Amino acid sequence: MTDANATCRPGILVISGPSGTGKTTLVNRLIAQSPVPLKKSVSATTRSPRAGEVDGDDYYFLSREEFLKRVENNEFLEYEEVHKTGQLYGTLKSHVDNAINNNCWSLLEVDVDGMKNITQIYPDAVTIFLLSPSQEVYEQRLRSRGTESEELITRRLQTAQRELTFADRYQYQVVNDQLDRAVQEICDILTQKSQLTSQSN
Ligand code: 5GP
Repeated sequence: MTDANATCRPGILVISGPSGTGKTTLVNRLIAQSPVPLKKSVSATTRSPRAGEVDGDDYYFLSREEFLKRVENNEFLEYEEVHKTGQLYGTLKSHVDNAINNNCWSLLEVDVDGMKNITQIYPDAVTIFLLSPSQEVYEQRLRSRGTESEELITRRLQTAQRELTFADRYQYQVVNDQLDRAVQEICDILTQKSQLTSQSN
């Protein structure tokens, strides 16, 4: 549950993990259960929406031209071409600023390169890498989604392998073996971190 009146200094929470680790479900649960006020930053992307995805909720789905116009206008905190597909993904400055100005933590779900960009700007950001219980479970989840072509699945598995080698660059690695347990583990991290930032105020 979020409590907009809770007193703590807001921070940045970065969550990464290969697609298919159950990130989206976990993030939604985390927003609902967070012990500190927490807002998800909605990124912009040039990729097409998947079935069920809503513009402005899941992403801002932009044409490449529109995305690049926003790059020129300096609207992104960071942006990257993810998965080598030529698709661009970027964190909008306005979303992060808005959360912090409202005394909320800002949750950024970005890839490994995004995490590096963000921690250069916000060295105090809390970084969490989400892991699948095993490579087999990960591949199963990816396939059962049924949204990607075989070629894209192969590319995502390769990206996942590469991303796994970066897991130890994050402050925390959380195994998404059981949703409730994983969400609780992240809530505990947030509680601890927000107490630390309050004490250092
Ligand atoms: P998907 O297409 O599965 O939604 O996301 C693909 C990847 O893009 C994920 O690893 C996700 O974390 C990453 N991503 C989403 N938004 C951003 C962003 O704003 N910046 C960066 N650098 N990566 C992002």
